[in-house]
Amino acid sequence: MTKQILVKDIPIGGGAPITVQSMTNVPTKDVTACLAQIERLKNVGCDIVRLSVPDRESAFALREITDQSPLPVVADIHNDYKMAILSAENGAHKLRINPSNIGNQSKVRLVVDAAKDAGIPIRIGVNGGSIEKDLVEKYGYTPKAMAESCLKSVALLESFGFYDLVLSVKFAGVAQTVEAYRYLSRVCDYPLHIGVTEAGTPSMGEVKSAIGIGALLLDGIGDTLRVSLTDKPENEVIYGHRILRAVGLKSDYVEVISCPTCARTACDVQGIANRVEELVKNIRIPLKIAVMGCTVNGVGEGKQADIGIAGGKNKSILFENGNVIETVENDFIFERLALLIDKKIKEKRQ
Ligand code: SF4
Repeated sequence: MTKQILVKDIPIGGGAPITVQSMTNVPTKDVTACLAQIERLKNVGCDIVRLSVPDRESAFALREITDQSPLPVVADIHNDYKMAILSAENGAHKLRINPSNIGNQSKVRLVVDAAKDAGIPIRIGVNGGSIEKDLVEKYGYTPKAMAESCLKSVALLESFGFYDLVLSVKFAGVAQTVEAYRYLSRVCDYPLHIGVTEAGTPSMGEVKSAIGIGALLLDGIGDTLRVSLTDKPENEVIYGHRILRAVGLKSDYVEVISCPTCARTACDVQGIANRVEELVKNIRIPLKIAVMGCTVNGVGEGKQADIGIAGGKNKSILFENGNVIETVENDFIFERLALLIDKKIKEKRQ
């Protein structure tokens, strides 16, 4: 098990539930816009939010943002150690730095001292472009080189007596990212922030993130995650939760399983499944609903669900806990299913 750190009051690692993060994409110095975006992120289930701090104005804006933000705030720092220090002094709940672009060791030490004074953790976030020359010469431009680069920074911060760390090693490419994290998880027990960096627009970015993050989570690796998409930050959070659900790490939702349809399909599977999904999208209880297109395979496969339907020629079968309870005219499947869903939800809430 990894060590546990706290970002304000949210634990990362040590067996705590895996948290979902995102980043604002409005100027940090625009406090009103930042807080509005943070509120939207919170409403879709974001646990921790990160903000870029490129200049002094942004660092000073953190004071008001952290005072009012409903989520813990991470200051993302590149190149300028002074921004890290100012962020720590202005209420940031965590710093994200890449020590290799912060400058020499004395500057890194000043950042560490500021984090110690503020009592906040640091994420060492290494990426492919910042691997030291000697490590590239030794290991090539490989995931191992990046993991070793991260460990080198860990050793530096430990030499300053700082252990309140989270690590990330995001490589360009899904396979390399997974390999880098697997390596890191074998050799250290700091909590890991996982994700596939610059995954792209949703069409491929979601697939890359699902494979990379999903593979790691199925290995038991990862304590907090961010899905990086060229999209609205809220969608990163929604997608992060979907990945957690798909790998079985989150069960507080209604899962709709539906068949892919084929020549046997006897009812409007796609229309009904879409309407059911819309109906239950905000329900936070574990429930499984099956929408299957025929009775040949549908009943058997759908029986693993709490409730469901299997389409017939004019009438379809409604089942509950694996037992057929009724046949319904095809025109009224959704309405009847909706009543049953309502009953099930009430039962589960009791
Ligand atoms: S459940 Fe029936 S209709 Fe749906 S894909 Fe399977 S065989 Fe086809």
